[in-house]
Amino acid sequence: MNTSLLERRFKVLGRHSPLFYEKPLQLVRGEGVWVYDADGKRYLDAYNNVPHVGHCHPRVVEALCKQAGTLNSHTRYLDETVVNYAERLLATFQASLERVFLTCTGSEANELALRIARECTGHMGVISTAFAYHGNTAAVSQISSVFTPASKRGPFVRCVPVIDPYRERNGRSDDELADAYVRDLQQAIDDLAKNGVKLAAVLFCTAFSSEGLPEIPRGYFPKVAKAVHAAGGLVIADEVQAGFGRFGSHMWGHDLHGMLPDIVTMGKPMGNGHPLAGVVTTADLMERFTSENMYFNTFGGNEVSSAVGLAVLDVLRDEKLLENAQRVGDYVLSGMRVLQKRHPSIGDVRGKGMFFAIEMVTDQQTREPAGARTKVIVNAMRERGVLISRIGMGDNILKIRPPMSFSTQNADVLLSTLDSVLSSVG
Ligand code: PMP
Repeated sequence: MNTSLLERRFKVLGRHSPLFYEKPLQLVRGEGVWVYDADGKRYLDAYNNVPHVGHCHPRVVEALCKQAGTLNSHTRYLDETVVNYAERLLATFQASLERVFLTCTGSEANELALRIARECTGHMGVISTAFAYHGNTAAVSQISSVFTPASKRGPFVRCVPVIDPYRERNGRSDDELADAYVRDLQQAIDDLAKNGVKLAAVLFCTAFSSEGLPEIPRGYFPKVAKAVHAAGGLVIADEVQAGFGRFGSHMWGHDLHGMLPDIVTMGKPMGNGHPLAGVVTTADLMERFTSENMYFNTFGGNEVSSAVGLAVLDVLRDEKLLENAQRVGDYVLSGMRVLQKRHPSIGDVRGKGMFFAIEMVTDQQTREPAGARTKVIVNAMRERGVLISRIGMGDNILKIRPPMSFSTQNADVLLSTLDSVLSSVG
């Protein structure tokens, strides 16, 4: 590890600017699912969704360089590429979601979504979950409960408990469980109302990724939408993690869950590392919002960003990466279930497409989260050349979310490394 670079970083970026791993990594190069550190050591990237179609994908790099060498100004000129991109992107949504605002970050997208919801409903209340991350602006950080304690969320925000069917199913059907979780939501809506606050929006990640990728009971999201609409609010689906085919079977998490949101936000994988994000909504909501508010974003969807966004969509289509995510994802999941039989510390294996969670417990019966051991596992995996991370309220859930081009050979490396780490760590 380069300790002098670490010290220099602390001096200019501060000690609290987050860094992964006990021994932070200095990555200098990436290619496909592989990244390389400053000593030339190769790591399998089984964590990053930003390089969605693979690190430094040549078609994305070429599109970026070509457009950067042609024209890049801002978003107030007529431009063919941005219109092409908006058309191609919107074609992946249900028909009523037919307008897009392009932004640079997921935080900006969620901030704009909240503005639209508050403006168009005339209400202020917003509900997220009790362990959510949605971004870093003033309004969005209030609902990003992972980092913002209840005392700092302000009078307009309520958080519903994180759903946890692994521990809470108790023999209940999906329908019964979904109803129970929607009752939690209704309580939050009622609590706002009791304090004179009407509901503007519920904003949920459609994977509940920070929450630990729980198995979402069938019918839950449509029931959420029904309760939210009955209260006069709008549904905002945060697709920053789940979007762009992460689940393999569907381009968007809300489609997988059979829900029609009013507003969808997206980011991270959209530009494969280039800052590109967006808000998709109905023609009516866009019209009502923009007739009262001029929305302008200097860089959001500029010529280069749109060229990059198009290249990402092209690669997803041409390399059949959703199909790949489904096929390889099933292979990874069945391998993880084999590991679960061998290692009693694995309480639960969940996931779909190229998104997996392995819940580590101290005891399979009590299902007590094994947070400290999970941290050891993540660091041991890094030492053995495989990058993963951890999530969840108990910090005990391995988060595995590789680029969409992950192969069965890559999966074998991931699974065998995890097997050997679990054998040594327990
Ligand atoms: N929503 C979700 C679900 C996210 O995971 C993130 C980033 N981790 C954001 C929003 C914010 O995106 P950004 O960091 O691009 O602002």
